[in-house]
Amino acid sequence: MSPRPTRTSPAHPELLLMLGSGLTVVLIVIIVAALLIREHASTLQAAKRSTTNIAQLINADVLRNVELYDLALKGLITATQREDLSQVAANIRHLVQFDLSMAAPFKGEVLLLDATGAVIADSSTLQPTPRNFANRDYFQVHAKDAQAGLFISRPFKIHCDCDQVWRIAFSRRVSGPNGEFAGVAVATMRLAYFDQLFSTLTIGNGSSVNLLNNKGILLAQQPLLERDMIDKDLSERPNFKRMLRDGSGSFQAISAISGKERLFTFTNVGELPLIVVVALPSEDVFAPWKRVALLTSGATGILCIGLLWLTWMLRRELRRRYRAERVLSEQAATDALTGLPNRRVLDERLRLEWDRAQRSTEPLTLLMIDVDHFKAFNDRHGHSGGDEALRTVAQVIGNNIRRPADLAARYGGEEFAVVLPDTDAKGAWLIAEHIRSSVEHLPRVAEDERPITVSIGMSTWDKRSRMSLEALMLSADQALYEAKHSGRNCIVDAAT
Ligand code: GH3
Ligand code: MG
Ligand code: MG
Repeated sequence: MSPRPTRTSPAHPELLLMLGSGLTVVLIVIIVAALLIREHASTLQAAKRSTTNIAQLINADVLRNVELYDLALKGLITATQREDLSQVAANIRHLVQFDLSMAAPFKGEVLLLDATGAVIADSSTLQPTPRNFANRDYFQVHAKDAQAGLFISRPFKIHCDCDQVWRIAFSRRVSGPNGEFAGVAVATMRLAYFDQLFSTLTIGNGSSVNLLNNKGILLAQQPLLERDMIDKDLSERPNFKRMLRDGSGSFQAISAISGKERLFTFTNVGELPLIVVVALPSEDVFAPWKRVALLTSGATGILCIGLLWLTWMLRRELRRRYRAERVLSEQAATDALTGLPNRRVLDERLRLEWDRAQRSTEPLTLLMIDVDHFKAFNDRHGHSGGDEALRTVAQVIGNNIRRPADLAARYGGEEFAVVLPDTDAKGAWLIAEHIRSSVEHLPRVAEDERPITVSIGMSTWDKRSRMSLEALMLSADQALYEAKHSGRNCIVDAAT
């Protein structure tokens, strides 16, 4: 007897709502993540640009100064190789030889060594103290290699130096008339020059500017990250190997000194065997980005949670409304006394099954059931007794229809209707007879001498009949009328 309800299910809009807000949240997260990734990339780009600028500034200054030293050395060598200078007074020769040596800043000694490494001229005095530098790296390089050009030594400290400052030496080979090794011109420079140059640049806490030669020896570092860093050999460090290979550029890597990730920007100093490295802690580079990322992610998280919460509330409200609507629509479709579907549902379903039957050409049967002498029953047992009897009859009718498409409804008063789709007259008669006899055999109410009985009018539409729906209803009604006239408690088929 189940009615075939066309109820609106909440699942569909609920799914749409959940899907919509889920997608919105995913979209918001994707957009925010994409923006943050882009911001991260541009922060890195900006840091690379500014460190490259610093490296270029240092590069230009160092190049200019080394050129000054080179000029002084070249001047010394040219003056030394002039034959006519051996004729002039020692003080004049000294002036000519070291003429260009004055301009270089942080200048130490400028010396001329002979082929044995002995000092034969000294910029600081006319009478050089006898010293020999044959064991120095620069002397050995020039003695062996005529093509060494301008050589930059490893940092060193002079033994007799009371201030014990680090120096490096720039040197060039002096060749004899036939290209043979005739000595070395050497100029020393205090490494304080680099410290002074680097300290003029503001690059932020935790950052460092470094100058290395192409053998990986650290010449200068500002600020010093560790004690005794100067003259340290960093040639085996992977970061140095990468810089040597690439020449110039930027990369992020773990610093072997601090153990933390740093952004290294590096460039070769002109054609010189020197590399300037500016190192910024990645932490510092991305600190402002991190703040923005934290704020944005927090705000996005709150927004998304808010959105999901609102969606959940809306879903709850939707469910509540659907439940209320369902209860209301069930109430509107149910007869309050018997619990059977009411007249409205009967009309809808009858029209629906009628249309279906027209399409499928399967038979459709309508039973009209009326309780016999109910007025008298009411008189005997009171109105509430009558109500109880109607409930019982409704239950009996409901129990006798089994298919999901079948429908029993209260037509009005003490009348009921049963719609039996796909059921021919023969099958419907059986059901009607079951109903009739079940009602007849109901236990007597208050030892009533007369049983409750029903009369049933029945009409069947099949593909051979040309009946309209209205005609079907009318003929079922007429059959019921006939059943009443035939003595009640019986079934009349309109077709017979
Ligand atoms: P018949 O065999 O010809 O059908 O006689 P009847 O008395 O059943 O027919 P009639 O139409 O004269 O009377 C129907 C009675 O059913 C009238 C009314 O008092 C009673 N009735 C209709 N609806 C209800 C109801 O909801 N509850 C009760 N208790 N009685 C009802
Ligand atoms: Mg009646
Ligand atoms: Mg009646």
